Formats: sequence, structure tokens, C-alpha cells
Amino acid sequence: MQKHLTGLSQAELSQFVGSLSEPSYRARQLFQGIHERRLPTFDEMTDLPKELRAKLTEHAVVSTLRLESRYLSTDGTRRYLFKTNDNLPVETVFIPEERRDTICFSSQSGCPLQCTFCLTAQLGLLRNLTAGEIVEQIIFALNDAYGVGVKTPRGTNLVGMGAGEPFLNFDELMKAIRILKEPGGLHIVPNRVTVSTAGIVPRIRELATTADRPHLAISLAAPNDELRNELMPINKKWPIDELMSACREFEKSLKRNERFTFEYVMLDGVNDSDEHARQLANLINRHQLHAKVNLIPHNPAEPLPYQPSSVERVESFRQILEAKGVHAFVRRPRGRDILAACGQLAARSTPLVAEART
Ligand code: SAH
Repeated sequence: MQKHLTGLSQAELSQFVGSLSEPSYRARQLFQGIHERRLPTFDEMTDLPKELRAKLTEHAVVSTLRLESRYLSTDGTRRYLFKTNDNLPVETVFIPEERRDTICFSSQSGCPLQCTFCLTAQLGLLRNLTAGEIVEQIIFALNDAYGVGVKTPRGTNLVGMGAGEPFLNFDELMKAIRILKEPGGLHIVPNRVTVSTAGIVPRIRELATTADRPHLAISLAAPNDELRNELMPINKKWPIDELMSACREFEKSLKRNERFTFEYVMLDGVNDSDEHARQLANLINRHQLHAKVNLIPHNPAEPLPYQPSSVERVESFRQILEAKGVHAFVRRPRGRDILAACGQLAARSTPLVAEART
């Protein structure tokens, strides 16, 4: 089988290059070719001798994801639908923003969690993505947005908020994050990355003791066990109080410049009452947490049985949180028209398709 080099650290690349009886400085050149210059094939790495390029092409690949469609939203958001080499869907979203653009990547093909408000749940888990497949999504999105190898204008932020539960693919996720920051590569430090989890408690505790980590976001969606069990069945395994005590531990481990946030999807008439807001503020305060809350209006999609809360409802909810000392912000949905917004990734096709560039 051909080795996928995008998922290798520089040290692992050195080993691989050694196995081909090549000197180790070739590993540095290769790493730069893949990550810093973002070249999708060995043939474009013209600083390598021709024979070596031929040898590499025989034993290894740089990219494995095949772009199937590229959707362009009226708000400028782009959604890429790829297929893996075993033909499974992977989606990545590029979100242009005034200050700094954001790339949202997926950690799994499909998702095993059965959150009732999320379209990805309908795919079920297809499989975990490899570190190489995670890094490749980011390389592709950068090349599409700025041009192959072109330096990003203001740097980019990454969010692990695409399809899948990142903390059920923890090792590959963390490996990808380490590769992103290696010198001579993409230069994306963990401080530019935010990973969101539905609440895999042991991994939150593990992250609390990990150095060089991304920012953390936790998806709540409900302020009590009864409602959360219904909306996010993972809550039956790790109920709210357990989740909150892991959050407390994580918060205590925060260093300067690190952020920890909650996300709360606002479902019309389901979890958005003033009483829910009071419960949520009390929950956060009872556990002595200082994390802010991002309120995400539900992104509707057939056949999900929900509608977004009204602007007034969201504002009232936000004000109750603030009055109780919990900072809350309302997130603006992006890319809804191409099913690229939170919870809408399910490998569907939509009308706003831009010509696929390969
Ligand atoms: N599995 C991880 C990563 C996905 S992040 C997690 O649950 O955190 C996706 C974010 O979008 C989560 O906060 C999730 O609660 C939210 N979300 C899911 N479906 C949504 C929808 N239809 N509308 C708005 N937000 C949604």
C-alpha cells in the first residue's frame, strides 16, 4: 500500500525516507513541499531529483481526498465535498471573515452520536479520519482560497466543528494538530485551533493535562439532564454534572491566552425559554465556571424536526444569561444556503455549486 505522507511528522518522514535509502535532509524538503508549499503531487516538488520523485510516486501519495463538489454560498462561504480513497464523504468549510478567515474541518466521516438537531447524525459513523486526511482538508481549503502555496493574508483560524466527534478520534486529531504547528510546515499553532466536543468526559480530563493544546468548546444544547438526554443521547453516558466537573477541571488548567467556551443551539420552543436560560446560568454558576456561551440559532434542514428560535427569543435568552453574570454571544449563521452551517454537513448536494477546481 502507498504511504500517505501528509499524516507523517517530520521525524516519521525521516524514517520513511531512510527506508528508501535516501538522506534525511530529503525529509525536510518533502515536509516543506507538502505543508509549507502545499504541493499536491511529488512531480511539482522540482527541488527533488527526478528519480526520487518517481520512486516516491511509486511508494507514497501526498493527497488522498478527491474533490467531488465545491459549493459557494451567497455569503462567500465555501463547502468542499470530498471522497476518501475508500469512497466515504468528507466535508470541509471555508468561511471568509473580516478579520481572519476560518476553516472548519471534519474529524470523522459521518458521526456516531445521535444528536436530534444535527443532520450529520443521519449518516451514522462511517469511519474515523486519519491525521493525514485531517491535515489534507486544511491544505486543500488554503490552496483553494488563496492559491497553491500562497501565504495566507492574515493567518487562518481552524475549528474542529465539522462532521464527527473529534474526541472519539482523539489520537489522530492531536497528531494532526501537532503536524500543523511543526516548523517548516503550515505554521498553524494550537492557539489558532478550536475543537468542539459533545462531551466525551475522559478526553476533556485528558486535555486538561495536555500541553500544546487547542482551545476547547463544549456543546450543551440543554441545561438539564432530562432535556439533554433527549437531544444529545451521549448525555446518558456522561450526564451534565459529570460533564461540568470535567469542565471545571479543564477551566482550572487554563493558561493565559487559552479559551474555553460553551455552545448552545437554540431550538424554537424546545430549549429556548427564559426558564431554560435561568437554568443554564445557574448551572454554569453553580459549577463556578467562567466560560462564555455562544448561542447558535438552529440551522434547519429537512427532515430535522426543529426551527430556529426568533431573534427576539435569542436576545431575551442572552440577556438573562448576562444578568446572571454569564457572558453570551449570538453567532451569525454562515453558508446555510449550501448546507455548510453548523449541523448541516451530511454529504448532500445543493444548487449553489461552483465548478470543482482540481
Ligand atoms: N461533535 C462535536 C463537533 C461538531 S461541532 C460537537 O458536538 O461539539 C458542531 C456544533 O454545531 C455543535 O455545537 C452542535 O451542537 C451544533 N449544531 C449541530 N447541529 C446544529 C444545527 N442544526 N444548527 C445549529 N447548530 C448545530
